[in-house]
Amino acid sequence: MAKYTDAVCRLCRRESQKLFLKGDRCYSGKCAMERKRGQFPPGAHAQGRGRKPTEYSLQLREKQKVRRMYGVLEKQFRNYFTTASRQRGMTGENLLRLLERRLDNVVFRLGFAASRAEARQMVTHGHITLNGKRVDIPSYLVEVGEVITFKESSRGNNRVKELTEALRDRQAPAWLSVDTAKASGTVLALPNREDIQAPIEEHLIVEKYSR
Ligand code: SF4
Repeated sequence: MAKYTDAVCRLCRRESQKLFLKGDRCYSGKCAMERKRGQFPPGAHAQGRGRKPTEYSLQLREKQKVRRMYGVLEKQFRNYFTTASRQRGMTGENLLRLLERRLDNVVFRLGFAASRAEARQMVTHGHITLNGKRVDIPSYLVEVGEVITFKESSRGNNRVKELTEALRDRQAPAWLSVDTAKASGTVLALPNREDIQAPIEEHLIVEKYSR
C-alpha cells in the first residue's frame, strides 16, 4: 500500500495552514506553523515566490490540501471524485461525505486515534473491529448503524489504554456517538456538509477536475 513518507509538517507549510496531521503535537507550541519558518512554504526558493496565485493554482492547492488532510493518494482521490460526480446532489459535498466515511477518518473522529495517520495504523494493524469483526481496510466506507470498537485483545495495549482514557475529553461529531465506558462508537447517520468543520472550498476541487 503506497503512502506519503516525507516530513508531514512540510505539507502544512506548503498549504499555509494547519492540516492537523500529527495529533497532539499540532495543538502544542512545537507545531511548525507556530514558528517563524511555518510562515513560509518549504524549499530553498520558497520565500521568493511572491506571484499572485492563478485560478488554476488555487484549485490545485485546494485539492492537494484536502487530499493531504485525509491521507489519500492522487489516484484514489480521483476515484472518489468520479464516484461523487455520479451520485445525486452536489459533487463537492458528495466527495467530502465519501472521504469522511472512510474507516480511518471515523476512527480519528471518534477519538480512537490522535491523527488520521495513527487511525490508519490502528486499522491496518488489526486493532479495530466493525460490528465485532476485525476490519483492516482504512478506506472501508462506514454505514449507518455500524459499531466501531477496539479489538478485545488490543485493549491491553498501552497506547489503546491511553486513548481510551482520553475519550472523555473528546467530542465526536453529531453523526457519530461514543460510549466512553465501552470505548465504542456508533454511526448514527451519514455525515452532512455542516458536520465537516474544516475550512474547505470544495467547489475549487470540482472546478479543477472539470477542466
Ligand atoms: Fe501541521 Fe501538525 Fe505539523 Fe503543525 S504539528 S505543522 S499542524 S502536522
